[in-house]
Amino acid sequence: MSEAPQHFDLAVVGGGPAGLAAAVALADAGARVALIAPRPSVDDWRTTALLGDSVDFLERHGVWSELRAAAAPLRHMRLIDASSRLFRAPDVTFDAREIGRDLFGYNVANGPLVAALSDAVAARSGGIVRYQTLFQTLGHSEGGERLTLSSGEAVTASLVVAADGRNSGVRQAAGIEVKSWSYPQEALVLALSHREPHHDTSVEFHTEAGPFTLVPHGPGRSSLVWMDRPEVIERMAGLDDAALALEIERRCGSAWGAMTVDSPRQRWPISGFHARQLAAGRVVLVGEAAHGFPPIGAQGFNLTLRDIAKLEKIVRADTHPSTGKPLDGAAVARSYGHARRFDVIGRVTGVDLLNRSLLSDFLPTQFVRAAGLMLAKELGPVRRLMMRAGLAAR
Ligand SMILES: Cc1cc2nc3c(=O)[nH]c(=O)nc-3n(C[C@H](O)[C@H](O)[C@H](O)COP(=O)(O)OP(=O)(O)OC[C@H]3O[C@@H](n4cnc5c(N)ncnc54)[C@H](O)[C@@H]3O)c2cc1C
Repeated sequence: MSEAPQHFDLAVVGGGPAGLAAAVALADAGARVALIAPRPSVDDWRTTALLGDSVDFLERHGVWSELRAAAAPLRHMRLIDASSRLFRAPDVTFDAREIGRDLFGYNVANGPLVAALSDAVAARSGGIVRYQTLFQTLGHSEGGERLTLSSGEAVTASLVVAADGRNSGVRQAAGIEVKSWSYPQEALVLALSHREPHHDTSVEFHTEAGPFTLVPHGPGRSSLVWMDRPEVIERMAGLDDAALALEIERRCGSAWGAMTVDSPRQRWPISGFHARQLAAGRVVLVGEAAHGFPPIGAQGFNLTLRDIAKLEKIVRADTHPSTGKPLDGAAVARSYGHARRFDVIGRVTGVDLLNRSLLSDFLPTQFVRAAGLMLAKELGPVRRLMMRAGLAAR
């Protein structure tokens, strides 16, 4: 007779930043967690701007101390209209001090972020059991959900957390549909060193083909996210380092002086989607299993950490160690789906509108965009409102 599968309060599927952060936070909430996560197979040269409460989240779970030394502070954000549209927006600079903060947040490289989160998982060996293998199937069992793994093992859990990215197999197995759309864009990502200082300022140049963004990444160094038409990105990605650095320098008016490409380059597809439901039965979705959108205003992983912080709070409220009562997965999933829907839909829609307002040739759209940024430049309350909205700060 085969052994009964091990039972956990929660099974988290996915070992990207969302899955690792979820496993750590939920173990800290007192749950026994199975983390089903093979080692990430691709090098990720992106960086993540951690805004608003994201750094507090990492600090609370003991992850920030490992990242702090290599994190680049973000004090100012500047938007420059680099289009040749009829209605052009004025340059606007947002300063964190205007909303009573020293900083908007910090920019960290995804490699060290994932490494620090993996170390935090390993440090919780009492609360997290890691299965370095793929999730295969999901089915109901008496005590909860039953997950089979490609190693041949199986586990059961009161609640399943899908953090397995945009093509989430758990989401599909739970029967949750997505609404998705595409953009005529791709992103080129790389790091650059440059002669002039960045003054802790991230700069978004808005062009007709999308934003071209430089984010501080250490002294004299920035990371670039260049969104453009796929054929332009393909051409740029094919240049040698010196020619590419010159092209980047030209596009940002040499404001950072001479530049040198100092990382491998990566291309990322750009699309948008959100799950039609964030929870079903005893399954919840977090991170890119739930939502994805263009990298504008550094919103993606910050939204993910808000998913996880909310789930952590609901799990804490449901777990009563003194009674020994098992986690009520269905109740937790219902509360989570209800609590997260407005923030998720609001962010996905907001970023979609921002991106489309750049791409649109429709004059009234260009006018509204330019007028909005004019108001932000001239009126402190509008500027502060936009900054608080970007940080999801109260
Ligand atoms: C160019 C670019 C720049 C960005 N910049 C920012 C930024 O500055 N700030 C910000 O907040 N966000 C940013 N984002 C968004 C952010 O990078 C993503 O939100 C985040 O990386 C998604 O993490 P995730 O863990 O949800 O998904 P993923 O990183 O895709 O991880 C999913 C994991 O699940 C695993 N998996 C898949 N299938 C299975 C299975 N069957 N079993 C087990 N595991 C499985 C995969 O191997 C993978 O490790 C950016 C995105 C892009 C494209």
